[in-house]
Amino acid sequence: MTEIAGVLLDTRHWIGGQRVASPETFPDHSPIDGSLIAEISRGGASEAAAAVAAASDAFPAWAATSRAERARILHAIADGVEKRLEDLANVETVDNGALLRSHRRGVMPRVAHNFRFFADWLLSLGHDDFETRGHANHVSWDPAGPSVLITPWNAPLMLATWKVAPALAAGNTVILKPAEWSPLTASLLADIAHEAGLPAGVLNVVQGYGAEAGAALVADPRVRRISFTGSVPTAQRIAEAAARNLTPLSLELGGKSPLLVFADADLDLAVDLAVEQYDNAGQVCLAATRLLVESSIADEFTARFLARAASLKQGDPRDEATDMGPNIHQRQVDKIDGFVRRALDAGATALLGGEPNADLGGLYYRPTLITGMAPDAEIITEEVFGPVLTLQTFSSEEEAVELANGTRFGLAATVATGDRQRAERVTARLVAGTVWVNCFFVRDLQAPFGGARQSGVGREGGTWSFDFYCDIKNTVMAPKGWQNNG
Ligand code: NAD
Repeated sequence: MTEIAGVLLDTRHWIGGQRVASPETFPDHSPIDGSLIAEISRGGASEAAAAVAAASDAFPAWAATSRAERARILHAIADGVEKRLEDLANVETVDNGALLRSHRRGVMPRVAHNFRFFADWLLSLGHDDFETRGHANHVSWDPAGPSVLITPWNAPLMLATWKVAPALAAGNTVILKPAEWSPLTASLLADIAHEAGLPAGVLNVVQGYGAEAGAALVADPRVRRISFTGSVPTAQRIAEAAARNLTPLSLELGGKSPLLVFADADLDLAVDLAVEQYDNAGQVCLAATRLLVESSIADEFTARFLARAASLKQGDPRDEATDMGPNIHQRQVDKIDGFVRRALDAGATALLGGEPNADLGGLYYRPTLITGMAPDAEIITEEVFGPVLTLQTFSSEEEAVELANGTRFGLAATVATGDRQRAERVTARLVAGTVWVNCFFVRDLQAPFGGARQSGVGREGGTWSFDFYCDIKNTVMAPKGWQNNG
């Protein structure tokens, strides 16, 4: 057991209802101060095989468990999350550096809600029955089988449970592989699920590096679903492995989303929406990192934006007054700084930030605004995944839409305008899985969520998540041939 943020937790894998150690470990550092907080069991091919075996063995019984019983256990897991909310929030903050106040008030309640939502969804599922020339059709949602869920570090437990909850609700067994930079709350989730009465082998947690544990899991032919959230290059590797077994997969990937600010927008609101994009130190897949502003208001928008951004307090994420914590890892900071340096070397200007915050240490990157780049510049087209926004101007609606759609991504887009007809015209033309108008990050769990173009394959949320984890079957019964009336 290791004590982190005052919480005792086990850093071994959770396989088949037991803690399992690997001969080797990998280090887990806190982004708050770079300190070593835990040594984590480092899974590879043998741990992956053991976890898939445990999930395969547990599958028939879990799949046969009644909907009411599955829903009861999911609600019990939600109760456990709520009971340990402070522990989860504190551990997650120390592990990934995101704000404690967000974990307490937004993220961890949402984790519990993920379980409650899919438990209730399961109970509300009706029957889809219809008739074809006297033949009775009956559609059923059969559990698909062991499911591998691979998640990133930027919102570890929220994104993991966004997959775990519908997979378990559907009757699947799960092998969760959390990101190596923030694996701790997945381990706590295993304890919570066990205490809630989830049978052994139904949820397994294998820790380790992507190229080792992750690659072994997605290549296993016994796996019937793969759901991945992460970067495009990793998704391509996973899709290649899945292709060999024709394992159905869901991919939630990166973005380079725009915020379009029209001259008729409420400017205070537009500035608030823009500054909000620094949340989680810019490590948000949905972040509207490209500010596209109508030329006639660009000077005023920029002045107000800079004034608002200057008031952001950067510092220790455990402090309630902090608005922006550290970035996750030195490698991520080097990546962010590399994008910024190359843009500045190519002639762009940093209107704000543009470097790590030397007062706080290497992992705290200053909120940054870059301008003066060509539309095809690297910093405009590639995902930075840090607190770096770019500013471009447009002089017509046509140009705004063209700039907005000018990347290989299509995860989200945000529009600030006071003209409803314009909002309808523009949103209809944007290529994105989610479009917000005069708001940002409003997310209902029943809404479809996912990306167009290279931002993803498939959708999560409500019926989309549930369908993905099922083998949907249509049974057709003829009106003839019966010995009795059944
Ligand atoms: P990443 O692709 O590096 O890693 C994600 C996960 O994949 C980790 O658990 C990692 O260990 C695993 N992995 C790596 N190589 C693997 C392999 N060969 N086989 C199997 N698994 C492997 O991504 P990241 O840096 O952790 O996360 C940041 C990315 O995630 C960004 O691009 C961000 O936009 C994206 N993201 C998307 C969403 C969304 O919902 N669309 C949400 C959050 C983050």
